[in-house]
Amino acid sequence: MPQDRDDLVAFLRALPAGTPILWVGLGSNLLVRDGGIRGVVIQTQDALSQLERRGEREVYAEAGVPCARLARQCAKWNLGPAEFFTGIPGTLGGALAMNAGAFGGETWRQVTRVETIDAAGGIRTRDASEYRSSYRHIEQPAPQEWFLAATLRFEGESSAEATRELLEKRRQTQPIGEWSCGSVFTNPPAITRAADRGDRPQGFPDRRRRRLDQARQFHPQRRRGERPRHRVADRTRAARSRARAGRHAPARMPHRRRGRIDESHT
Ligand SMILES: Cc1cc2nc3c(=O)[nH]c(=O)nc-3n(C[C@H](O)[C@H](O)[C@H](O)COP(=O)(O)OP(=O)(O)OC[C@H]3O[C@@H](n4cnc5c(N)ncnc54)[C@H](O)[C@@H]3O)c2cc1C
Repeated sequence: MPQDRDDLVAFLRALPAGTPILWVGLGSNLLVRDGGIRGVVIQTQDALSQLERRGEREVYAEAGVPCARLARQCAKWNLGPAEFFTGIPGTLGGALAMNAGAFGGETWRQVTRVETIDAAGGIRTRDASEYRSSYRHIEQPAPQEWFLAATLRFEGESSAEATRELLEKRRQTQPIGEWSCGSVFTNPPAITRAADRGDRPQGFPDRRRRRLDQARQFHPQRRRGERPRHRVADRTRAARSRARAGRHAPARMPHRRRGRIDESHT
């Protein structure tokens, strides 16, 4: 972990050319194999932690600033949209590297400039237009360049209340506080586009939610708040059949229910 920027530059200049370098923020998007990492690891958290307001609408933040701190400070400055940063358990450097986003917000939509450093310790300022960003991905203008800091522009407002609401929403829908490797799947493009527009995605998630509601309604264990003994798919199928059969048929005898429905149709 470097002491500061000068220390980092001196370290990189002294590093033998070609040494593999891995930058780490909070490590919330990394899974390291037991064999470890070949090369050097540079950790930015606590080292690059400057965060300040610049002018009316801009914020300058170094790469090691945790996203949650950025969200909290923006709420104090009443600058937004920045609430979404509260849901990203990483640093700004990690968020820049993968265009992290949550609740319809995305890191690179707010970026105007970045400061980068290369393997030889050379520092550059680059305009955001030099990067191409897409869903959880960016294309950099040059390989082997890492983020030191970014200038973010916020045209709207944000509040501590809105930040708290998003945190609560996250707490209700995700296992916060449990050990987790984060999201393993990416959203399909249609869902991402719908989320960007602020729409609620239709189709599969709604159908699945309806089935789960049905399962809860009809499953005695679920109603009592106990853990179900059967797979969800079994329960929902049984619940659907029971709903069709007027709720009277016993859950353990699906063949009978099916027989009865068939008879009524013939
Ligand atoms: C429970 C949980 C929930 C999550 N929810 C979300 C979510 O809602 N949205 C979302 O987008 N992500 C989410 N993530 C993933 C993760 O939090 C984000 O990807 C975050 O941006 C990673 O930041 P980090 O500082 O921890 O990066 P790290 O995990 O340390 O590194 C991630 C990548 O970024 C690179 N990197 C780090 N710092 C720099 C730098 N300064 N310059 C260049 N490259 C750098 C690393 O080399 C690595 O390739 C979640 C993860 C967990 C565990």
